[in-house]
Parts: sequence; C-alpha cells; structure tokens
Amino acid sequence: MALPDLKTKLEILADAAKYDASCASSGAPKRDSKNSKGIGSTTGAGICHSYTPDGRCVSLLKILLTNSCIFDCHYCINRRSSNVRRARFTVDEVVRLTLEFYKRNYIEGLFLSSGIIRDADYTMEQLVAVARRLREDHQFRGYIHLKAIPEASQELIAQAGRYADRLSINIELPTENGLAQYAPEKKQATIRGTMAKVKLKLDEVKAERKAPRFSPSGQSTQMIVGADGANDATILTTSASLYASYGLRRIYYSAFSPIPDSSRTLPVKAPPLMREHRLYQADWLMRYYGFDSQEILQGDAAGMLDLDVDPKFAWALRNRALFPLDVNTAPREMLLRVPGLGTRTVDRMIETRRHKLLRLDDIARLKGALKRARSFIITPDHRPVQDLDSTVLRARLAPPARQLSLF
Ligand code: SF4
Repeated sequence: MALPDLKTKLEILADAAKYDASCASSGAPKRDSKNSKGIGSTTGAGICHSYTPDGRCVSLLKILLTNSCIFDCHYCINRRSSNVRRARFTVDEVVRLTLEFYKRNYIEGLFLSSGIIRDADYTMEQLVAVARRLREDHQFRGYIHLKAIPEASQELIAQAGRYADRLSINIELPTENGLAQYAPEKKQATIRGTMAKVKLKLDEVKAERKAPRFSPSGQSTQMIVGADGANDATILTTSASLYASYGLRRIYYSAFSPIPDSSRTLPVKAPPLMREHRLYQADWLMRYYGFDSQEILQGDAAGMLDLDVDPKFAWALRNRALFPLDVNTAPREMLLRVPGLGTRTVDRMIETRRHKLLRLDDIARLKGALKRARSFIITPDHRPVQDLDSTVLRARLAPPARQLSLF
C-alpha cells in the first residue's frame, strides 16, 4: 500500500486529534519576536484565540504525531484494535508544518499529542524532539502544548516542560474502575504520578527564581464524560481532588463521542452537550466562587447536574432559606452565590458600598441585567415580592430550552 503523502497525513492526524479538548492557550506568558531573533509571538496583531461555542480551541495546529497506538482504550478511535487508516509524521514534518502554518498566520501555536508508539519514553522523546527543534533550531516563539505521556521518565518530562508552554496528562475517566473497564492498560496511579512529577517541577520553579523554565502555563487534563457510568457528583469530586493535589490550571470535560466498532459496553449515544457545559459551569463555581464539590449537588439523589438551569441557580433554588440577601451587609462569599452576580460585579459592589448605600439602580448599573439577581437580594428600595419558596420562581427564571449548536 502506498504511503500517505504529507497532506493525507495531515488530514488523518488532525482528524484523529479532534477528540482531545485540552488545548486552550490561556495563561501563556507574553513572548514575541519584535527586536529579537526568531519568529512568532503569543500576543499581538494577527494572533487570535478562537473557540467553538462548546469551548474547544481552534487556533492551534492540533495534531497527533501518530494515530497508531499499542494501547487499546475502548473509547478511543485510535486504539490498537480500531479499523482506521494509520499515519505517522516524522519530527521534521511536524516542525515544517508548524512553521509554515505559523508564517501564514493560520495558527498561534502547536498542540501535539500522540498514540503510544513503542513505549512511553520513546513516544515522549519524539514529542520533545519536535518542541526542541522548533525552539532551538528555528527560534519559534509561538505557543506549544505537549501531551505528557504517563510513565515517561522524569528527565523527559523535565525536557518537555523546558520547551512547552503547557503540559497536559489526560486523566481520561473519573474513576479507577472506569479505567480498569475501558482503558485496561492505564492506571490512575500512573497518571497521577506523572501529574505529581509536573507539579514538583512547577513548585521548584516557583520557589527558585533561577530555576530553568518549566511549562509556564502549568498543566491541564481532560476527562471524558458519559463513556462510563460515573455521575456528575463523582466527576466533580475527582476534579476537586485533581485541582487540590496537582495545581491544575484547567480540567477539560469532553463529552464521549461514539466511535465505529466500539465495545458493546460503551453507550451508543453521546451524552447531551449541555451536560459538558454544566460541568464547566460547576467547575467554574469550584474555582472562582468558593463552592465545594459536594455542595453543588447536595440533595440531588441522582448526583446529576440539572440540564435546564445552571448549577448556581439550581443551588440557590435548593437553598432558598438563605435568601434574600441584603447586598449592603452580606459577606462577599454569600454575594457570590446570588444567581446572576459574577465575581467582577460582586467586587465592584463591595468597593461601592464602602462609600454609599447600594440601591437597586446601583446594582443594575454595575450588573446590567438584574432579572435573575433581583429575586435573591434586598436593597433599601427593593424587597423581592414573589415568594422565594414558590416553585414558580424556577419556571419564571429558567431560560427557555434550546438545542446547543456545534458551530
Ligand atoms: S493511549 Fe489510549 S487514549 Fe491514548 S491514543 Fe492510545 S488508545 Fe487512544
């Protein structure tokens, strides 16, 4: 059979990479080539961050080095037993493609992952070789996100972090049981061990100002949602533990996509994209709004996020006894729990109330739309008239049902 040419390889290996959602470039340090050697920049004219509505980043050259893999994870299109066309880039080819795409301003950087080629170290060496060539031979200043292969040596992880802006190690599924069932060659302990190695290096860099550069945008991971039977409560508990243990910048939730010839134990249908969206919202509540993973779903027997309303509103409806709040006296942590109030609005409210009593108009000016928040707050000129215990509140404030669009 004729070997695929570069264009065909690109089609195969970009398509194979699309299932990995952990590619946002937020948090990269500013780096540019103005007044210096090299090409590329993580900032400036022509560089844009572009995301699909479901949160996936589209401005990186996002490819696999190869879609051949010695592992057989049931949920993965690239697994050993999958009947897909295979291809493999050489290190030179990825370097060339990245530079050419960058010069044409198609991309702002590279997201590079790979199937496991021979073993973890060999695969990691290949990924590192691409990043090293880009940085050292071509002075590439654009963004590089490398997938760190669990079980790769500490030295290779250190090298990867020297060249990459971000490293990610996919946790894949939220539980050890899920992995045993659907990715039998993977172990959560090994995955977490690699995350711990990255965290250790990140901590070293933070502690020593002169330590060699290491993954300045930190590490992230991806969790597949809806492949195994884990409910949202389990997913959020795992996420909380990952954030606390490894200082992850982001966890990306990726709704399982049914694949051809998959295992019969996998679902035949993808979970609703809204589930993925609600998990992102709940994740946001944990990271920026002081919510604990347990309380987000406290009192929900099925442990599933409500698809019709966002998790903060759902929480407030379950905890109506805590509202309405007097915005002139309530502490910041409680104001953050008012549906419709974001962190910036709350901080501006707290700043403003140092000088004057907040009235409803003041909040409307800070916030813009008050429709949701006004049912949960008290100001000197406003007290919600409707009964907070009323079930009508949910119906009145819940957004109309809509189908999420992919584009
Ligand atoms: S290790 Fe598993 S998830 Fe990764 S490419 Fe191979 S089969 Fe797919």
